[in-house]
Amino acid sequence: MVENESILVTKPFLPPFEEYVEEISEIWENYWLSNNGPKHQTFEKSIKNYLGVNNVNLFVNGTLALYLAIKALDLKGEVITTPFTFAASSHAIILNGLKPVFCDIEESTFNIDCNKIEELITENTTAIIPVHVFGNPCNVTEIERVAKKYDLKVIYDAAHAFGIEVNNVPIGNFGDISMFSLHATKFFHSIEGGILTCKSSKLYRKLEMLKNFGFNNNGSIELVGTNAKMNEFQAAMGIVNLRHIQDNINIRKKLVLKYRELLKEVRGIRYLEDIEGVKHNYSYFPIIVEDEYKYSRDELHRHLAEKNFFTRKYFYPLCNEFQAYYNGNYSFDFSNLTVAKKISERILCLPLSTHMKIEHVEWICSNL
Ligand SMILES: *Cc1c(COP(=O)(O)O)cnc(C)c1O
Repeated sequence: MVENESILVTKPFLPPFEEYVEEISEIWENYWLSNNGPKHQTFEKSIKNYLGVNNVNLFVNGTLALYLAIKALDLKGEVITTPFTFAASSHAIILNGLKPVFCDIEESTFNIDCNKIEELITENTTAIIPVHVFGNPCNVTEIERVAKKYDLKVIYDAAHAFGIEVNNVPIGNFGDISMFSLHATKFFHSIEGGILTCKSSKLYRKLEMLKNFGFNNNGSIELVGTNAKMNEFQAAMGIVNLRHIQDNINIRKKLVLKYRELLKEVRGIRYLEDIEGVKHNYSYFPIIVEDEYKYSRDELHRHLAEKNFFTRKYFYPLCNEFQAYYNGNYSFDFSNLTVAKKISERILCLPLSTHMKIEHVEWICSNL
């Protein structure tokens, strides 16, 4: 009886236990636990192939990957980014000693509004870090145009966008670097993990060093790096999960289509549709609770929790509203973030995971 079950906003996918055990059993033979072992090498090749990119670096998590992407490009001064994202995006900028400059977002995709980027560019701006929010691609053409015009670097936070393609171009081919997160709660994961893709092989080698204490191929320390390497157990989980990825996308797509079908007639609930020319991964199902809906977003969130299914206000609050950014060292003008503010106060992610059945979606929607 779905009525009596508790449904979480997400629940990690786990492959069959035996499959993972078989994958890691070699580790008991070769005692290679980390530092670019055989699992790491295999996983890196598979990812390169799956993502359709030239260069892939694997990391222990997405946040450190993004942190090192910024370091590798030697950015200075100000970076234009979106406030409608997870804390990791703007933290990575601030941890590098840079100033995030928050740009408003689009109503239709929740991504950075390309028409508002240029007015934020100053002589101190060195990069744009947009986020492909919920796996919907940013306007990559326009971002490239602006970046070229002002000689800015572009790093995409593609944490949600694993496997996305735009007009048959895999998403990791845009910008200077893209970061994908393989955290357990992402639809494809390696327990924890991160990926950077880049076109430049020089940049690839620099990232290899930065994630391994700055060691170069000769064993001398060429850069001041940190430790952000992916280990063999993570890589093994990634290898196994990659075998199940298409099945998982198919399950999610069915659930998403059901949600859309059942919510179509609900006044005051808005959701995102597929975008023409885009290959989606169906990793989230966010809705906007419009003002004409019978409850506010927060009331709906509470009401659904009483029914035992748990939605998430994601992303709320906006990054520019984090208390941690107001300790005297930072101050952000966000009078210009009207759309982002509006969306973050109305957004709610409904439950979506491979553990769910169509009946769960029907039950949830009957409560909306
Ligand atoms: C998950 C996430 C990250 C961080 O990735 P981790 O692998 O958890 O460190 C960064 N940005 C966004 C938008 C995310 O959702």
